[in-house]
Amino acid sequence: MKRTALFVLILALLFCGCSPAGEKAEFWAMDTLCSVTVYGSDCSAAQRIAEDSARRAESLLGEEHGYLFFAGEDGQTLTLSDDAVRAVSLSLKISEWTGGAFDITVAPLSALWNIQEAVCPPSGDEIGEARSLTGYQGITLDGNRLTFSRAGMGIDLGAVGKGFAAASAYDALCLSGVKNAVLNFGGNVTVIGDKNGKGYQVGIRNPAGGIAGVVSVSDASVVTSGGYERYFEYEGRRYHHILDPRTGYPAESDLLSATVVSSDHILADILSTAFFVCGSEESRQLYERYFASDPSMIGAVLLSADGEVTVLGNVDFRPIDSSYSLS
Ligand code: ADP
Ligand code: MG
Repeated sequence: MKRTALFVLILALLFCGCSPAGEKAEFWAMDTLCSVTVYGSDCSAAQRIAEDSARRAESLLGEEHGYLFFAGEDGQTLTLSDDAVRAVSLSLKISEWTGGAFDITVAPLSALWNIQEAVCPPSGDEIGEARSLTGYQGITLDGNRLTFSRAGMGIDLGAVGKGFAAASAYDALCLSGVKNAVLNFGGNVTVIGDKNGKGYQVGIRNPAGGIAGVVSVSDASVVTSGGYERYFEYEGRRYHHILDPRTGYPAESDLLSATVVSSDHILADILSTAFFVCGSEESRQLYERYFASDPSMIGAVLLSADGEVTVLGNVDFRPIDSSYSLS
């Protein structure tokens, strides 16, 4: 009896030791503020690991040139790292499934719009010319060799970068023994563990300010794409950084933001961008067709401009802001 009591006490102490308030470290990577919060592990070691993963993603995915890659000297081919091959092949699959709403060959359009620095939109002719150099059907991936069908084509890994960094940080932190942690790579939130069975509560921003609602997650990424953070305004109109390659202009769906929750961290990043471009109805259909039976997929939360919230899959979403109602 005594022994049992002692055992329970030790367990309780261990349990408490594993769930202090959490220690947080911040760093700047991938052109955004990143953080790692760990519970019951060495925070500076975790920061080193998370930061290393982000730096590796930066260099592999070409942060120094805005995640854009254009063909090499011969004008037609690129040699990719093994990691980039993984990101590109998943991207190509999603391009096919979304009929090109998500398309990493958007690069010539991204370079033309250059949303970070632009003060006015490009001309229709310029957009037409850049569009003629896009289209995922124009690239072939053979091992590590990516071939473009036309000179001037390129790939843009901007929609994949943070998910890619999160996936490698997740693996490396788990390998180092971290059991409970939250990574925040510029709004891409990845959680390790289940916070002693409670699940982590991750807020989804209301694009108009504040928090729209909360999802409860364990061992997964919560990634949101929206047009409300990176944009410029010209003559009263807002031009944001997520483009619809089918029109050449910033995507104009009914959505203000699309959040995807998945234990496949790269897929969550890709799909949040894809759903934002596709809008609520097309996303719902895509979800049913391709993702409902994917074991890594937990679900999605789509916030539309008219205040409707579409919840797909089994995501545990709790609305907070009364201006949104579940559809
Ligand atoms: P953020 O990086 O701001 O979190 P996203 O993950 O949604 O947002 O990625 C947006 C980036 O993806 C853009 O800055 C651009 O580099 C790239 N991109 C824009 N439109 C598309 C698209 N339709 N398909 C694939 N990539 C895109
Ligand atoms: Mg993305």
